[in-house]
Amino acid sequence: MSGKRLLTGIKPSGSVHLGNYFGAVKPFQELQNAHDFDQTFLFIANYHALTGRPTGSDLTEMTQEIILDYLAMGINESKTVMFLQSDVPRVTELTWMLNNFMSVAHLERAHAYKDAVAHGKDPNVGLFDYPVLMAADILLYGSTHVPVGEDQKQHLEMTRDLAEEVNADCAKEIFPLPESVIPNRTGILPGTDGNKMSKSYGNTIEMFADEKTLRKQVMAIVTDSKRPEEPKNPEECNIYALHKHITPADDLAEIERGYREGGLSYKESKEQLFESLKIFLEPFRERRHDLTNNSDEVRRILQEGADIANAEAEKTMRKVRSELGILSYSDF
Ligand code: AMP
Repeated sequence: MSGKRLLTGIKPSGSVHLGNYFGAVKPFQELQNAHDFDQTFLFIANYHALTGRPTGSDLTEMTQEIILDYLAMGINESKTVMFLQSDVPRVTELTWMLNNFMSVAHLERAHAYKDAVAHGKDPNVGLFDYPVLMAADILLYGSTHVPVGEDQKQHLEMTRDLAEEVNADCAKEIFPLPESVIPNRTGILPGTDGNKMSKSYGNTIEMFADEKTLRKQVMAIVTDSKRPEEPKNPEECNIYALHKHITPADDLAEIERGYREGGLSYKESKEQLFESLKIFLEPFRERRHDLTNNSDEVRRILQEGADIANAEAEKTMRKVRSELGILSYSDF
């Protein structure tokens, strides 16, 4: 295996919001454009989602939605091999093999598992083993680069440890050691209450909500109680924090002046944000609408992705099986 390969996974987990676009999709596109990767893989991590025990119908729906969401948000399938994790079940085969190179003590130090225990939960084996499945995701495709946030650094370290251990055991390079690439983050996008925008805080502005919901979400942005004519510091305002991402530069300068000089009410600022958002979101919505009516196209993208991913996976697994002495009838 050769070349620079970027891999990233997305867990299906409900309606995508502006934070997902500015914190995940856009940095991913920028990474793709800034580096000359030979191949880029993006998979929907539906096996990973099982650790949270969603119902089958919920997971089905979330998986279908997230594929449309990410394609509509601009994942370009001509540059990216996009596939469903479960379309390459070899990843579970590799997980099982890697499990034998990972100590229980090491997994007990993983943040997600430690957090769950600290909160009095009784984690299932899936959650405990999550870092090994993640290592398999990365190593199966010979990935050399993985975009990671702070919270994922430990998992990537575990992946590198596993790769080194297997390579040392086999006295050859079965897996390249993946490196982290730090995406050019726009920073944390605040939600309508000023905390990090997150589904779990109920403070999101969704990418694909209908206009009525979008308006409701914008109008719910929390502000202080300064009167319209009072000067305001835009840098302390949750509305302005979103304007900065969405509103075109000229309009933004005007809004900033309105804040600093006074005369712009929070209500007006919200109305303007709502208008900017409608314009900003329109092309994403149109693409999503087109895709919703074109399941043949979605199936084609996922099938082509799965075919490429499976071919790479099989190359890796042939080597791994052979090194570990795992036979098939065809070996007799
Ligand atoms: P989540 O929806 O929490 O699973 O996050 C999926 C991706 O979106 C991750 O790469 C996050 O870093 C990114 N993301 C989620 N919320 C935000 C936010 N408020 N600001 C920036 N990035 C975010």
